Amino acid sequence: KAKRMGGGCAVMANEQNEMETHSATEVEVALRNALSTSQLEVYYQPIYNNIGHLSRVEALIRGVDEFLRKTGPAVFIPVAEESGLILPLGQWVLNESCRQMAEWRAMGIASFQLAVNVSARQLVQPSFAEKVLQTLQRHQLPPQILHLELTETTLMNDFSSMIHSMKRLAEAGVLFSIDDFGTGYSSLARLSELPISAVKIDRSFVLKLHDNAPSVGIVRAIVHMSRHLNLEIVAEGVETADHVRILRELGCDLFQGFYLGRPLSPEALVEKARRDALATPFQDSPAARLS
Ligand code: C2E
Ligand code: MG
Ligand code: MG
Ligand code: MG
Repeated sequence: KAKRMGGGCAVMANEQNEMETHSATEVEVALRNALSTSQLEVYYQPIYNNIGHLSRVEALIRGVDEFLRKTGPAVFIPVAEESGLILPLGQWVLNESCRQMAEWRAMGIASFQLAVNVSARQLVQPSFAEKVLQTLQRHQLPPQILHLELTETTLMNDFSSMIHSMKRLAEAGVLFSIDDFGTGYSSLARLSELPISAVKIDRSFVLKLHDNAPSVGIVRAIVHMSRHLNLEIVAEGVETADHVRILRELGCDLFQGFYLGRPLSPEALVEKARRDALATPFQDSPAARLS
């Protein structure tokens, strides 16, 4: 549980669930240090299709030291965005996760795609598209394996300065997903002007999902509209067997959440991908959980 507050404070709950306050400056200094001393790493959370195949992984940044571990990206990413550190940080995550994907592909285990989160500050840079394409090229990755995740709030910023980069990347084959969908105020109609191929239903709706819950109606409406706009539907925050059942009934295409798999270190992700590929639907595998 973490929230970035106004007034330069970053607030988070510590292990005893007491609120701890660190100044944004403290977080910023820690991030700057971590970036210059390579004390950051990328974890990968598996995303499965409705027959339990590993379709995609989402790259999620992690701090190596205890302070940034405890702070977490939900708190330090907003600080990075305000300070401008998100530019080198975001580029680092993109490059590192592409490097990792290339390694996995060379090992013959990555038939899945890569999703990377991108902030508004990155997307409005005139050189953004070029940087992404160069990074893909550096690691000899086809653009079609990359999904860039943008939040609704990102797109509410300044549409016009982003559209150019998005179109350029989309023409090259890069895919775009709307992250945390349903929490902002954008309409899917407006989003349909953009080259988007997927929506990720925010986990706040999934969290409240049970039979007859109001969020069933919300998810159903999102799925319905997304279908008409030819968008792939990803459910995030899948935490229980009931979530899976209801989301599948509603017609979601892809599933991500602690019930199916936590964000993992590269080594642990490889292990999991291997186990998932071997598991029959009778074992306690994502395939079984999704059947
Ligand atoms: P997000 O992009 O929506 O990523 C999903 C977040 O939900 C991750 O939190 C993930 O660990 C968490 N999550 C996944 N499944 C479940 C579940 O079943 N239950 C619950 N309660 N949570 C689940 P994380 O890694 O702490 O990241 C938080 C946010 O920080 C991300 O939300 C994203 O907005 C941002 N972020 C993380 N890495 C990056 C990055 O490299 N660049 C940018 N710009 N933002 C990042
Ligand atoms: Mg995301
Ligand atoms: Mg999300
Ligand atoms: Mg979210």
